[in-house]
Amino acid sequence: MSSLQLVVLNILRDSSPKMPLTENHQSIEAFRLDRDNKPLGVGIQIRAPRRKSHRLDSGISYKRRLRMSRIDSQIAGVIFDLNGTLVERDSESDHLRAIRDSWLIQRGADPAELRARSTSGATTKELLHGYEPMEFSEHRAERFDPGRLRRHPETRAILHRLTKNRGLALAVLTNNVTRYLERCLEELHWESFFTYARGCENGVKPDRQVFLEAIQALGTCACKTVAVGDRPEKDIVPLSELGGFGIELSWRDLGELEERIAERRFSHAPAPSGCITCARS
Ligand SMILES: [Mg+2]
Ligand SMILES: [Zn+2]
Repeated sequence: MSSLQLVVLNILRDSSPKMPLTENHQSIEAFRLDRDNKPLGVGIQIRAPRRKSHRLDSGISYKRRLRMSRIDSQIAGVIFDLNGTLVERDSESDHLRAIRDSWLIQRGADPAELRARSTSGATTKELLHGYEPMEFSEHRAERFDPGRLRRHPETRAILHRLTKNRGLALAVLTNNVTRYLERCLEELHWESFFTYARGCENGVKPDRQVFLEAIQALGTCACKTVAVGDRPEKDIVPLSELGGFGIELSWRDLGELEERIAERRFSHAPAPSGCITCARS
């Protein structure tokens, strides 16, 4: 049986008790069910009757979203980080931790003992000390299940609106291996939203060259581009040094992103030296 099913629900309106769906409601969205037919995530949107402001998952009212769509933020491109920003960090994921531990066991190590001896909170980097990190990253990239990485329930809808409604060009840069990124984009069905996607094999953040190539691929200017990430030093500062903007954000708060771009609420402004791409042209 297909996991995608249309489910019609009774909804709760702002003040009234439970009321049934009527023809006045504008639309309903399909959402995924797991094998036990339980809804996955909370991404259900049922638009209330016209002229009634209805809060969506991101906390932005429908009216406010309409108003935002009329604001020209001057931003043409967005460069996302992957882990910690579009999906949870590796270190937050029980699923990825299990893959790491079984890899260590296969090599004769005892993950529990390594954790007990850890002085830095048992990070993957520390536990893998003495092993070949790229070999592990490639092993993990083949075996993990992107669907098991936690992410904001509206991520797909947000990426859709940024590209299709606002006409922004999107890039994703990760210091993870390309195979990991490819599998996330393919299996989460995000591929069509990104003009440019790049893993660590040919340069890593915070190298500014990595950001410069992304700007060129997006066909924007640094001063019209915003970097979005959970680790400013790697994800944002290099773009700000090139003359772009930044929004420090974790995947849990991704619902704020559209509003922050529209209202130009940036956490990082361009460096005083100005826009490198404008200066060159
Ligand atoms: Mg990150
Ligand atoms: Zn510029």
